Amino acid sequence: MLELEERIRRDGTVKTGDVLKVDNFLNHQMDVELFQKMARQWKADFADAPINKILTIEASGIGIAAIVAAEFGVPAVFAKKSQSINLDGEVYTTKIRSFTHGRVYDVIVSKKFLGPEDHVLIIDDFMANGCAMEGLLEICHEAGATVEGIGIAIEKGFEPGGKKLREQGYRVDSLAIVESMDPETNEIVFRH
Ligand code: 5GP
Repeated sequence: MLELEERIRRDGTVKTGDVLKVDNFLNHQMDVELFQKMARQWKADFADAPINKILTIEASGIGIAAIVAAEFGVPAVFAKKSQSINLDGEVYTTKIRSFTHGRVYDVIVSKKFLGPEDHVLIIDDFMANGCAMEGLLEICHEAGATVEGIGIAIEKGFEPGGKKLREQGYRVDSLAIVESMDPETNEIVFRH
């Protein structure tokens, strides 16, 4: 998606440790009009899929997922990072290693909001190693839900997550794929 690439070039900052900072329009201040255009792109790309639920993970996926859910006319559910695992069996749980914080989080989704009747589009802001996606896929698997696809705003193509998930047969639709980025010059190269 050209407009997203241009915005990343204009406003993105390449940090050391392979982190791309896009606080100006995605991760802190949110350009909701841009989110709407992203949502329209995913809606067109997944027009053939019977999606009835959007799933993401807190915190930074929520803004995008909410706009995507409005575009599809379906609910959005976000997986919660939880300190205490609920032991009463009312939640699906998994563990996710955070790329940006290096910590492992317990993540939960209530059984009330995801089940075998669901056809899910998973949405997130970034994909790097694919840990967040693997956790969300595990939750969908536990729930017996069908994963119709994965929509990522920015995939870092030089990290292994996207390749791994595509090889597993998942339909991964990344709107911008960064091939390389240089923290010294701030040069960002995209894959097409
Ligand atoms: P993964 O689990 O694929 O390794 O990393 C994806 C998650 O880490 C995303 O949910 C995102 O919040 C965060 N993340 C990974 N790489 C970046 C990055 O370069 N910039 C920002 N802002 N977040 C990132």
